[in-house]
Amino acid sequence: MSRSISKSKYLAGLQCPKLLWSHYHAKEAIPGPDAATQAVFDQGHEVGRLAQTLFPGGTEVEWSEDGAAMRATTEKLLAERRPLYEATFGAAGVFARADILNPVEDGHWDIIEVKSGTSVKEINLHDVALQRYCYESAGIPIRRCHLMHINNQYVRRGALDPHGLLHAEDITAAIAPLIPDVPVRIQAMQQMLAQPVCPAVEIGEHCDAPYPCPLKAECWATRWASEAAATPTGTWTWDASAIGAFLDDLTYPLYLLDFETMGTAIPLFDESRPYQQVPFQFSLHVVERLEEEPRHISWLWDGTGDPRQAMFTELRRAIGNTGSVLAYYKRFEEARLQESAAALPEHAAWVDALMPRMVDPGDPFRLRAARHPALGERRWSLKLVLPLLTDLSYDALEIQDGCSASAEFLRVLDAKTDPAERAVVRKNLEEYCRQDTYGMLAILRKLDSMR
Ligand code: SF4
Repeated sequence: MSRSISKSKYLAGLQCPKLLWSHYHAKEAIPGPDAATQAVFDQGHEVGRLAQTLFPGGTEVEWSEDGAAMRATTEKLLAERRPLYEATFGAAGVFARADILNPVEDGHWDIIEVKSGTSVKEINLHDVALQRYCYESAGIPIRRCHLMHINNQYVRRGALDPHGLLHAEDITAAIAPLIPDVPVRIQAMQQMLAQPVCPAVEIGEHCDAPYPCPLKAECWATRWASEAAATPTGTWTWDASAIGAFLDDLTYPLYLLDFETMGTAIPLFDESRPYQQVPFQFSLHVVERLEEEPRHISWLWDGTGDPRQAMFTELRRAIGNTGSVLAYYKRFEEARLQESAAALPEHAAWVDALMPRMVDPGDPFRLRAARHPALGERRWSLKLVLPLLTDLSYDALEIQDGCSASAEFLRVLDAKTDPAERAVVRKNLEEYCRQDTYGMLAILRKLDSMR
């Protein structure tokens, strides 16, 4: 007998047959989500719950390992003609749960699929096409299909307004051409799954689209190893006068600054938009002379509301009226300062005055005044330059990139997180952010030795 394919597995199968086959035959080989991916999932669930409030009076079909029980509950609730959340159907070889099924005239229903993205993507159309096929095969008359997503123009002011934050697009016409292909694809997937051997699939762009595939570490191991072996080695070359000019332009004391930020689908604070990057932490090294040890200031928000007022208070206390302010890829820090000042205009003049003092210590690498074969023509990120130029790296740190820092901080904010674990995460965050600014100092010292 052919397997029934769930909606999520159908979408995995569209991305790659090997991924789909592994879900059924080698599940243990698929790693669980990392902290950053889990944070994305969690936000998706929050958006889903918020969308339900736009269809009040409904009932949720609770998740159960027992699919038949969920379908039976759905069947019973359908008769009540009220909104249904997570209504569950299985028919024609597929199994799907509807985020929201809303009763409309003449005994019909509308499908509302909720996504935490900011636009309709092709994969969303396949998602809803599969749902419509499944529900209609189960005898549910569907009128229209909508994709409800985040409106990225929404600005939170006071209580959250779900009507302003969420925008529903009618995709009934857009999915219509996809529906006839659904049974054809399902049959092909079922035949593939009946094979005992995993299909051979070449790696390629599909490994990252529409989603980063969880099997990348396995499938790409050989490619990554050969790329690592082929990475050009060699030594630094540099233009001493260009580096000297860059260093001579700096005004002491130097303030080496790095922000960590969070950007959530549902804006948490007044005067912020969906996915706006709000600073929750900074590290600042204050350098009087390159050869001396710097003073370090670490600030990490420990309140529960908007961190930006406290961030400005601490930053303005720490940064004097003169001296260069260095941030690696400074456009990021500049944007965060300007956005924060837009929300708190009392700091706008201070931010305006700070902008001409901002310097990017990545410029000597971006402008190829200092070159290394491993960087090639266009790469100059701090994570690449630091271990090539100094004896510092991120390898020993628990948190190694900004996305993980953001996801970890959301765990700190979560009241359910154990206090001891929260303390560990806060320490890890401070170590990570400190490395970014101390790393800048290490780079400046090396550059100083090149002039
Ligand atoms: S990494 Fe690429 S080839 Fe491997 S299973 Fe995923 S999508 Fe398929």
